[in-house]
Amino acid sequence: MKNSTAKETPLPSITLDDVGGLPKEMKEEILQTLEIIKDPDRSDKLGIKAPKGILLYGPPGTGKTLLAQAIAHEIGASFFSSSGSAFTELFVGVGASRVRSLFENARKQAPAVIFIDEVDALAGKRKAHGGEETEKTLTELLVQLDGGHSNDRILFIAATNRKDMLDDAFLRPGRIDFSFHVPLPDTQGRKEIIDIHVKGKSLSPEVAASLNMLAESTSGFSGAEISSLFESASRKAVREGRDVIGKEDLDYAIDRTILGSTSRSLKDP
Ligand code: ATP
Repeated sequence: MKNSTAKETPLPSITLDDVGGLPKEMKEEILQTLEIIKDPDRSDKLGIKAPKGILLYGPPGTGKTLLAQAIAHEIGASFFSSSGSAFTELFVGVGASRVRSLFENARKQAPAVIFIDEVDALAGKRKAHGGEETEKTLTELLVQLDGGHSNDRILFIAATNRKDMLDDAFLRPGRIDFSFHVPLPDTQGRKEIIDIHVKGKSLSPEVAASLNMLAESTSGFSGAEISSLFESASRKAVREGRDVIGKEDLDYAIDRTILGSTSRSLKDP
C-alpha cells in the first residue's frame, strides 16, 4: 500500500477464540458491538449508531493487538495497522498527511479496521505533548474520525498502556465510543491462554497433566509471556533433539521469563 507507515492485512485469520482470558462481560459487550457493526440497517432502524472508535487499554502483552485483529476478522474487514510513533515526525505536516492517507487507503478497502497501537504517541494530551507538529497530527486524526459516517464501514481501534495520557478531545464519544480495559489474566484466564498456546504442540504426559498448576503458578504473567513460555520450551526441546515438550523444557522457559522480568517471581500454587 502507499502509506509506508501502515501494514495492511486483507483479512486477519485470528478469531475471538484465539484471544483468551477476556473478562466475560467484556466479551459479551464486544460481541454486542460487533452485531451492531455487522447489521447497520437493523441498527439504523433501531436508532443505534455503529461505533466509530474503540479504545483498548491495559498492560503490555495482554492481547490488545490480537483482539483488534479478531474484531476485524469477525466483521470481515481488512486490517490496517500502525503505531502512534509512526506519525510523530519533526517536519510539520508529515504526520498529518500520514494520518490522512491511512484513512483514505482504508476507505478504499472498506470494510476496514484501522488499528493504531501506542496511540498515546499520537493522541497524547496536547499541553503535555506540546509542539506544532504533534498538535497538527492529532487535529488531523480528529478531523478524520469526525469526517467518517457511521455507515462508511471504517472502524478505528486504538490501543495504549497509558489511557491517562490521552487527550480528552480524542476520547470524546463519537470518536471513541467504547473503551475496554484489557487486564492481565487471572488464573482461569491464564488457563484459557495456555490452552490456546499448547494447541498443535506435543507435550509430555507430565507437562500435559500440569497445565492447571502452571496457570495457578504464573500469577502476573501476560498472554504474551505465556505464549513465549511455550515458544521457548519448544525451541529448547527441538535443540536437544526431543519431539515433545518435557518438564525440563518448560522449567527452563519459566526461569527465563522470570529472569526477564524484574517485577515478580513465580508463586507457589
Ligand atoms: P502491547 O501493549 O505491548 O502492544 P498487546 O496487548 O497488543 O501488547 P499482543 O501484541 O496482542 O499484546 O500480544 C502478543 C502475543 O502474545 C499475541 O500475538 C499472542 O500470541 C500472545 N497473547 C497475548 N495476549 C493473549 C491472549 N489474551 N490470548 C492469547 N494469546 C495472547
